[in-house]
Amino acid sequence: MRRLFIAGNWKLNKNINEAERFASELKSALIDINTVDIAVAPTVLALPTVCKKLQHTNIEVSAQNIHSHASGAFTGEIAAEMIRAAGATYTIIGHSERRAIFGEKDEFINQKVHAAFRSGLLPILCVGETLEQREAGHASSIVITQLKKGLNGLSPDQLSCVTIAYEPVWAIGTGKTASPEQAQDMHAQIRSWLYASFPAFVGDQLRIQYGGSVKPHNAHALLSKPDIDGALIGGASLKVEAFVSIIETAASL
Ligand code: PEP
Repeated sequence: MRRLFIAGNWKLNKNINEAERFASELKSALIDINTVDIAVAPTVLALPTVCKKLQHTNIEVSAQNIHSHASGAFTGEIAAEMIRAAGATYTIIGHSERRAIFGEKDEFINQKVHAAFRSGLLPILCVGETLEQREAGHASSIVITQLKKGLNGLSPDQLSCVTIAYEPVWAIGTGKTASPEQAQDMHAQIRSWLYASFPAFVGDQLRIQYGGSVKPHNAHALLSKPDIDGALIGGASLKVEAFVSIIETAASL
């Protein structure tokens, strides 16, 4: 019912030329994949070039971040409307690196989610607990609180178009993956909360990606779980072979 959605977050990697070359290679390697949704998130500098390179292909482009305002005195920021005009389809919002390093709070993240919809971008909202929070038994309450605040004020139609990326902070870039059972368990709790809080079509349609050291060797076990609807991938999305292998695994399911 929900198509798997695999997105690569390039973070602060690949200059314009490298990004363009990488996009060309992906385009050729993924030309026959038509059963999985795919996106890549280059730096904002490379985004227009990558959008042009991937126009009319099966690979969409995502921003890694947006600002909540459309214009004004916000030095160094980029508006959702500008990202949309460059040709992107999605934007990541509330990545744990933005929360931890740049101090982004749930209220600001919620404003960005609204800004994404205002501009026509689809948000990929990242949530996840730290190791300390998990060990204290607070993982579910942290994640559900991030979701309640991050998604506040959206209509059911908008909610059904959101992608939630569950990314346990302790599994990002560390090589430690949540086991498929741990990930499925949290995804099922998120899904139950969606069914309990909104009309049923939201729970049916909203996709929940898993993120945190997804690699070719663990992709099959994770993506086979019923409530894992895709993956948000950092490190493994920087190598054509690894990223393509994960997408081929998704397409085989
Ligand atoms: C991420 O940055 O969203 C991520 C999941 O990174 P990695 O795959 O490298 O853990």
